[in-house]
Amino acid sequence: MLNLETLLLELSNAQGPSGFESEVRQIVRKELKPYVTSMETDGVGSLIGLKTGPPNSPKIMLSAHMDEVGLLVRYVTPDGFIKFQTLGGWLDQAIIGQRWQIMTSKGGVLGITGIKTPHVMSADERGKIFKGEGLFIDVGAKDKSDAEDRLGIKPGDPIAPCAKAEKLNGSDFILGKAWDDRAGLAVMIGVMDSIKDKDLPFSVYAVATVQEEIGLRGAHTSSYAVHPDIGLNLESGVAGDYPSISQYEAQEKLGAGPAIFLHDSSMLPNLNLRDFVIETAKEIDLPLQFNVLSGYGQDGAEMQKAFEGTPAINITVPTRYLHSHNSLINLKDVESAIKLVETCILKLDPAVVEGLKNFD
Ligand SMILES: [Zn+2]
Repeated sequence: MLNLETLLLELSNAQGPSGFESEVRQIVRKELKPYVTSMETDGVGSLIGLKTGPPNSPKIMLSAHMDEVGLLVRYVTPDGFIKFQTLGGWLDQAIIGQRWQIMTSKGGVLGITGIKTPHVMSADERGKIFKGEGLFIDVGAKDKSDAEDRLGIKPGDPIAPCAKAEKLNGSDFILGKAWDDRAGLAVMIGVMDSIKDKDLPFSVYAVATVQEEIGLRGAHTSSYAVHPDIGLNLESGVAGDYPSISQYEAQEKLGAGPAIFLHDSSMLPNLNLRDFVIETAKEIDLPLQFNVLSGYGQDGAEMQKAFEGTPAINITVPTRYLHSHNSLINLKDVESAIKLVETCILKLDPAVVEGLKNFD
């Protein structure tokens, strides 16, 4: 029996900046194993699990990305401080004053992004934003050779945020890093668990992609590896339910069920698939939210554009404070996202899939 809460905590705690997803891949591989007939990786590291259907039957691709936003060592200063490159979309303000783990060949090295003390600042300086170029990580090294030789820090080493996942104050909220997109991975694993005993008239591909945060790269290659008929991307959504964000900017709320994106800057959903998901949610009385975003990119866009084009949609778990050390999801939303995707999948057969692929 899958323990969803335990799985979520394990996935959130795993370190996997873009391009360095190995720890996450090991968890997903272990979790998917009982549910799939085969598993392989593509040439950039996306993990492709297959629950095989009859020969020449339709291919349904679920995707969720393993990578999280992180940093990468640029160089070590003569004083032993670490200068870095960002991996993925960080606000400079979210980087400072945090704990990080530099993933070296000798193991994890704890560091902090130091911030200048306000004691020495003018009133003018206190109101300023600290720019990325001036930021650094302090690992307590004596100098450059101490950082490099003793601690094993090298240019190109990945750096992951340090933040331990936990349930928040007895609520259904779970606090942690990397819900983007470990929440989606948990949904994917949960769906594969829920359909494990079903003999389906199509194949289901559970694809854990790499390098989403730096340009949907793993989704690109894996979509070509699978050549799906239908694509369901599973993501962290954008909640707009806290002070400082407006409903205009994002419409999802935590605890109000999964959402579908009706617009983001990478994709419009297939309209048949959009209506199919909305109908399915209605049939099982499951609250479904909608989000129209000006920005955001997600892996569904790569499925949609592969080969001759694939009907695709992005289904999300509402998330607060994305791309930071501390983001929030609601366990109930993860459960209902699994229920929604499971029910959608179980309604499919080759004729339904053909219908979804049809344009009038
Ligand atoms: Zn994401």
